[in-house]
Amino acid sequence: MSGKGPVYISVVIPFYNEEGSLRELHHRLTDILGAMQVEYELLFIDDGSRDESNLIMREIRAGDLRVRLVTFRCNQGKSAALAVGFKTASGEYVITMDADLQDDPAEIPNLLAKLNTGYDLVSGWKKVRYDPLSKRLPSKLFNWTTGALSGISLHDFNCGLKIYRNEVVKEIRVYGERHRFLPVLAHYQGFRVGELAVQHHPRRFGKTKFGMYRFAAGFFDLITLLFRMKFVSKPLHLFGSLGSISFLIGLAILIYLTVGWFQGNWIGNRPLFMVGILGIIAGVQVFTLGLLGEMIAERNSDKDYPIRADSDIESRQPA
Ligand code: UDP
Ligand code: MG
Repeated sequence: MSGKGPVYISVVIPFYNEEGSLRELHHRLTDILGAMQVEYELLFIDDGSRDESNLIMREIRAGDLRVRLVTFRCNQGKSAALAVGFKTASGEYVITMDADLQDDPAEIPNLLAKLNTGYDLVSGWKKVRYDPLSKRLPSKLFNWTTGALSGISLHDFNCGLKIYRNEVVKEIRVYGERHRFLPVLAHYQGFRVGELAVQHHPRRFGKTKFGMYRFAAGFFDLITLLFRMKFVSKPLHLFGSLGSISFLIGLAILIYLTVGWFQGNWIGNRPLFMVGILGIIAGVQVFTLGLLGEMIAERNSDKDYPIRADSDIESRQPA
């Protein structure tokens, strides 16, 4: 292939201090993609590495026209690196993978084949996983919770190895730590999400970039995400329900106390009295929070709708 036709596959690879694996990774990617006989580009995103990674990547780029390198001045996180890669990728299909050789480039043809059985995103599933138990167990819990709350059942949301149709990566917004939820974001935009068991390897060079805090971070991000997806355009539906429940409980308690008062029971210093008042005040507060949310939602109501790429519409809204 000459590198002149339209790009068929873009591979997006975020990396942060991965000097030990970059050469081998590049080598294996060129082998696999070369054998597939398609136009491709390798988009390496240096997320502010402070080891020799950038130097090595510039050497690789000098010898391979299909390599593009984007360098962050300082570390921004995997989501940011992916976001830039997604913006830049021009291929009809976009593949993401980690730079540490834990993901296997040999899976690329399998992912592509699976995608073309009728999906817009196929996520890798590290069925046999080569990570320490201290990571595998919390990860199981994370995947289970994310699946239960989001309504899509995947075994492995956060696998670095995934394939997307280009329109998917142009439409989903990844920032913060949202890279863990890309299948959820795509699902809520109406894309068809599937998964494929892939080969996984132990880390040979360097060390993991995410500590134990990753699991707390994952949980907070999940809550934010679900709120954003389900209630951001109708906050009163959430706060109104919660507020009303609190208000009604408070009201019931006060009615009960009032009935008692007519029967001669003094209520002034009963703890239940406090609970009833608290219920009513909290209820009103939470309810009005929802009303305020509605006003903000109305101002932000020109949101992007999930319009399919083949629609007859002048210009689709930017992602
Ligand atoms: N990574 C990154 N920026 C970061 C942290 C990680 O680009 O701030 C890259 C990292 O170099 C690797 C991928 O994201 O290519 C996955 O990271 P890691 O292997 O440390 O995660 P784990 O496999 O332990 O989940
Ligand atoms: Mg890794």
